[in-house]
Amino acid sequence: KPTRLLILAGGRSEEHQVSIASARAVLEATKTMVDIDSAVLVVARNGFWLTIEESRKALDAGTQTAESGGGLPMLHAIIAEMITDYDVVFPLMHGPFGEDGTVQGLLELAGIPYIGCGVLASAVCMDKIMTKEVLRANHVPQVRFVATTRDEYAADPARILGEVKERLDAPWFVKPANLGSSIGVSKARDEAELELAITKALSYGRRALIEESVVHVRELEVAVLGNATPEASLVGEVVHSSDFYDNEAKYGVGCEVRIRIPAHVSAAVCDSIRELALRVYKILDCAGFARVDFFYQERTGEIFLNEVNTIPGFRPTSMYPRLWEAGGVGYQYVIRQLVKLALER
Ligand code: ATP
Ligand code: MG
Ligand code: MG
Ligand code: MG
Repeated sequence: KPTRLLILAGGRSEEHQVSIASARAVLEATKTMVDIDSAVLVVARNGFWLTIEESRKALDAGTQTAESGGGLPMLHAIIAEMITDYDVVFPLMHGPFGEDGTVQGLLELAGIPYIGCGVLASAVCMDKIMTKEVLRANHVPQVRFVATTRDEYAADPARILGEVKERLDAPWFVKPANLGSSIGVSKARDEAELELAITKALSYGRRALIEESVVHVRELEVAVLGNATPEASLVGEVVHSSDFYDNEAKYGVGCEVRIRIPAHVSAAVCDSIRELALRVYKILDCAGFARVDFFYQERTGEIFLNEVNTIPGFRPTSMYPRLWEAGGVGYQYVIRQLVKLALER
């Protein structure tokens, strides 16, 4: 009997469309798999949960708007349906209300097995500040940073700006604490740009962080798969022509982005990175899968952990599946493993 998989897609976050694209790809890939039957459930941009039937229509029409329902009674009905009609849920939604532990908590309460990290790892990894605090306590190398909040910054911007200038060398990277796809991320070269960047980052969320930038950074990424005994993929590198790997470079048209697997770095650097990726995965109590991203400073040989993405982009052309593909592990096999890992927990 095939395993019945329900893919959750879309969601309230800025990364709604990215999620829809990943979900379509998983749906497509599982069509030819005899051991998995899958369906997609779309969460509209306004947070309304569509029924499976509405989701199918929405995907076909290419729009993900909720016309009706969506309230608590609807969610209740959907959860009941999930429990009776599905074996595993794949919360393939990025960002807040998808990747941050909220949906994982719902599935946990309902007792439905799901793919990927649990509540704690999801919540910690979604929050760049909290991730850094936890990893700092474990002596994982990272860039220096300053964290701030809307209230704090509004009360005394000069204090925050002063702290940044005193503790961190320019240029700086400013980011919302809780997003992905480079949304709200900017590079600031001077104080004027810094102020704009902080205001922008804080417009996306209550908390933001300012990081020292790694000059001539090489961006290396590793795919990790597993529960208690996770495995790390080859190391990949993102090569782009933009000033940094911004949203436009990730999803815009006409921007040249190349993925190089394996990365053109020494075997020693690859080994250190893979080892660190596994260590970080365990420290953060990740499960299922995650894409662990690093900054490599070639001149000094330093490796810094950037972030852990617990629901990485999952189209066949996305970094995560490609890292496995390059090592001989195909897209469908990865999906099958994820389902197995979810049922095992
Ligand atoms: P993702 O889509 O991978 O989830 P994200 O939105 O979580 O990305 P980051 O990975 O933190 O954001 O930053 C986006 C990009 O900005 C990085 O890939 C890199 O190009 C650049 N960047 C961020 N921080 C730094 C830094 N400290 N030094 C150099 N470049 C940086
Ligand atoms: Mg099938
Ligand atoms: Mg991220
Ligand atoms: Mg990133």
